[in-house]
Amino acid sequence: MRYSAARLLWEGLKGHKGWGRAWRDPQPKPSYDVVIIGGGGHGLATAHYLSKVYGLRNVAVLEKGWIGGGNVGRNTTIIRSNYLLDGNEPFYEFSMKLWENLEQDLNYNAMVSQRGIMNLIHTDAQRDAFRRRGNAMRLHGAGSELLDADQVRKEAPFLNFDNARFPIKGALVQRRGGTVRHDAVAWGYARSADQHGVDIIQNCEVTGFRIENGKVLGVETTRGYIGAGKVGVAVAGNSSRVMAKAGMRLPIESHVLQAFVSEGLKPVIPGVITFGAGHFYVSQSDKGGLVFGGDIDGYNTYAQRGNMPVVEDVAEGGVALMPIIGRARLLRMWGGIMDMSMDGSPFIDKTHIDGLYFNGGWCYGGFKATPASGYAFAHLLATDTPHDTATAYRLDRFRSGAMIDEKGMGAQPNLH
Ligand SMILES: Cc1cc2nc3c(=O)[nH]c(=O)nc-3n(C[C@H](O)[C@H](O)[C@H](O)COP(=O)(O)OP(=O)(O)OC[C@H]3O[C@@H](n4cnc5c(N)ncnc54)[C@H](O)[C@@H]3O)c2cc1C
Repeated sequence: MRYSAARLLWEGLKGHKGWGRAWRDPQPKPSYDVVIIGGGGHGLATAHYLSKVYGLRNVAVLEKGWIGGGNVGRNTTIIRSNYLLDGNEPFYEFSMKLWENLEQDLNYNAMVSQRGIMNLIHTDAQRDAFRRRGNAMRLHGAGSELLDADQVRKEAPFLNFDNARFPIKGALVQRRGGTVRHDAVAWGYARSADQHGVDIIQNCEVTGFRIENGKVLGVETTRGYIGAGKVGVAVAGNSSRVMAKAGMRLPIESHVLQAFVSEGLKPVIPGVITFGAGHFYVSQSDKGGLVFGGDIDGYNTYAQRGNMPVVEDVAEGGVALMPIIGRARLLRMWGGIMDMSMDGSPFIDKTHIDGLYFNGGWCYGGFKATPASGYAFAHLLATDTPHDTATAYRLDRFRSGAMIDEKGMGAQPNLH
């Protein structure tokens, strides 16, 4: 069933009785050409592009819980393509272009809102670094603007410009950045993949791999054994746990990241704003809540809940940046498990096991990558060659030294 204004009107007149299910609830088949583990944004996007673009229909997505229950439904919804390095920028710009056409591609309202993202500048050295990054973005066609303090003041007068420690001296802006309704992304991809014949199987946890003579034959699950020609793993924060079942140890640590939503307020924040002197980022949802977050919790965990010290740290960042936030009441907060890689960049690669492919290491920036990640992973699964925009995301890059350390932080996952 296609969604359209005419359909909405028609259903409205009939009391909304005619809407069908957005995706089926199939029983697992004994085997598939491709099994994707993980029904998050990346797994579902992979299934969509695999079936729609590459024509593979005998595909299953196995999700241990319910689709959208992981990070794809837990993030702060920010999309952007404001990267510096060659290994990253073309990939994230590809993702941005896919976001720009996503709703037409999926026939689904994902509330893609290019309301702009503003990275604030607080020092002269930071301005130099952001100018360099802005130029790299322009070279890749992503677009950028460098604003001075007065220009920022016009767009966001409520910020604390004259803070003695963190004066605001300008901003790097990407107007095409913005927000997307996160769980609608999972639902939109799921609906489209289902329409193209993909089986989306929820409550189906993968508990092991059947591997013989260096080749994967299928997966053991809580709903029985499922054979597979190829297996793609896209389980985000659970990457190390799942790949350990195939005997692999990854350059990834899992940490929890928390997000916060305030009570609904009148429109105040025009787009996404990030604090350049602390770790704090904020936007305002269409319902009026301020949606914000900060650093990951500093220890390794697979738990989807965080702790108070980070709550305090995020609140401090928020109040330093925009004191008016101190008057807003916090409505909700939650956590998600981040797959933090050692250089802050992801992996989309084959493994040394024939037929087993890995997608992960998204740190806390994988939501904006969802379309390109799905496309590139589908390309790899279908053709056995990396997509042009994802050639750098190799698992062996730490052995060869070809790291993609966007922030220059070294092997400190908590700082990426
Ligand atoms: C609080 C927070 C804020 C964030 N903010 C942003 C942001 O503003 N912008 C941005 O770009 N990124 C952001 N991120 C990061 C982004 O959400 C993630 O990088 C991205 O969603 C990860 O990919 P995914 O959607 O596929 O993950 P998930 O949705 O976590 O999908 C992985 C799925 O795998 C399933 N799974 C795990 N193990 C198994 C198994 N054994 N068998 C079957 N299924 C399994 C899980 O249940 C889960 O549903 C944020 C994350 C969090 C938590």
